[in-house]
Amino acid sequence: MTTHAPHTPHSAQGPHAPHSALGPQAERAQSVTLPASLDEAVAALAAMPAAVPVAGGTDLMAAVNAGLLRPAALVGLGRINEIRGWQYQDGHALLGAGLTHARMGRPDFAALIPALAAAARAAGPPQIRNAGTLGGNIASAAPTGDALPVLAALEAELVIVGPGSLGDTGCSQREIPVSHLLAGRDMLRPGELIGFVRVPLLHAPQVFLKATGRTGPGRAVASVGLVLDPARRGVRCAIGAVAPMPLRPLEAEQWVASLIDWDGDRSLAPEALEAFGEYVAAACVPDQGEQVSSAVLHLRRTVAVLARRALGRALTS
Ligand SMILES: Cc1cc2nc3c(=O)[nH]c(=O)nc-3n(C[C@H](O)[C@H](O)[C@H](O)COP(=O)(O)OP(=O)(O)OC[C@H]3O[C@@H](n4cnc5c(N)ncnc54)[C@H](O)[C@@H]3O)c2cc1C
Repeated sequence: MTTHAPHTPHSAQGPHAPHSALGPQAERAQSVTLPASLDEAVAALAAMPAAVPVAGGTDLMAAVNAGLLRPAALVGLGRINEIRGWQYQDGHALLGAGLTHARMGRPDFAALIPALAAAARAAGPPQIRNAGTLGGNIASAAPTGDALPVLAALEAELVIVGPGSLGDTGCSQREIPVSHLLAGRDMLRPGELIGFVRVPLLHAPQVFLKATGRTGPGRAVASVGLVLDPARRGVRCAIGAVAPMPLRPLEAEQWVASLIDWDGDRSLAPEALEAFGEYVAAACVPDQGEQVSSAVLHLRRTVAVLARRALGRALTS
């Protein structure tokens, strides 16, 4: 799946970096530009409509190496300092798209957005986490993207920058819910970049859990991002990897939130936890015809266990 609307094919030549920081495969592209700001990156993409942005390159260069992609030019985002950190804004954190999984996994970030930190720590082996970024994870929109169910549960918004003349910077900006991009309702247009991700700071327990097909690091078979939102007396949950985009079991969320004693110790009867897991699993892994295959039953069981455990942990943290 791609989150970009198709580019117009066009042969491109742009300013060349003296040496590519992206490796020999990248050097096969006709030009590699390494802008130092988002404005410069947007300008470079506008000047070279066939250029492809690359951040950590963990997804993009794998596609190049597999012969699936032959970008005419690359715009590297790795030198743009403004998107490598985060700042606070009106009860939210504005996360730079260039934050690596390794950076998000550190304790200071985990204190801020624990579920996103947990997802970052689970995103592949260390060399992938050192290079792979939040923006790349979102733009790739792989069903197994670990950050995605967390961002869906947090109802994060994306700050998209692109060519235009709005604002002081010469770039235009627009904001869309991450769920709209992941569902393909609002794609990245040619020349646009994910600049930032706006995430509410909920100051309440949140959990990310992932089941893989084997022990050790691996892609998710199913994952869950679950956050408590005491101010809105809400439970928000998204299931990853079981569909092309994270799924929100809205009825299950509302049902279980109505059972929680938000002013007390937030305890929940074990039967209610169990029922929540089953409710989420039935919503996210529905029957496909009269004969339910053992694979579907197994996936449903996995989702039920993940959802039950995630809520149990959130309520007892
Ligand atoms: C061996 C291996 C294991 C992996 N395991 C996991 C895993 O367990 N969990 C997981 O979630 N992921 C995993 N991944 C996938 C990958 O590491 C992540 O998706 C990573 O976050 C991608 O980020 P990147 O910066 O490397 O993206 P890139 O490869 O640089 O780019 C990916 C795509 O996003 C676009 N893009 C990048 N940044 C932007 C931006 N700011 N705005 C617009 N478009 C942009 C690029 O044009 C490209 O289309 C794995 C990958 C490998 C190779």
